Amino acid sequence: MIRLFPNCGGWLEVVCGPMFSGKSEELIRRLRRAEIAGQRALIVKPRLDDRYDIGHVVSHAGARMRAVVVDEPADIPGLVDGYDVVGIDEVQFFPPEIVLILDGLVEGGLRIVACGLDQDFRGFPFGAMPELLCRAELVDKLQAVCHSCGGPATMTQRLVDGAPAPADGATIVVGALEQYEARCRSCHQLAAPALAAG
Ligand SMILES: [Zn+2]
Repeated sequence: MIRLFPNCGGWLEVVCGPMFSGKSEELIRRLRRAEIAGQRALIVKPRLDDRYDIGHVVSHAGARMRAVVVDEPADIPGLVDGYDVVGIDEVQFFPPEIVLILDGLVEGGLRIVACGLDQDFRGFPFGAMPELLCRAELVDKLQAVCHSCGGPATMTQRLVDGAPAPADGATIVVGALEQYEARCRSCHQLAAPALAAG
């Protein structure tokens, strides 16, 4: 096998960006290429995400790959025996322990492709993503298309009844097209916290 980093066993790649930036599409593309190269690839994702059918990663563009759903990071090492490449979808939804778990797998010789949102709907760093970005050998930050102005979008706009969500809303609400848009920094909006507005 041709290795990207010949002198170390494994490495960590991070694919991040806002919603609708093609992250899952890119994750599936990388793992399919590994399979074409004769490697065994596995995708793992947290149980929280059930937008589409459990047991698959499905990109907004329609690409699909089977995925194993896990309840917690500690479940992952028991699944990866015999695999060369492991993709982690929606990695921002895992608790902080995901960092050391993935670190251990990389040390053990695995190529890990961690994929997820780098910012929540407020624009704050999401979950363990900052730590993963810092530790990764390779980082790709994808842009979507701003729903308002058509420019490159790096942020996720949350909408409640069509209006910008308040800054103190819940961070995690797994939703569909009508609740989230990709926006550029200029077009991204947050409403005043609901408590202050009341
Ligand atoms: Zn814009």
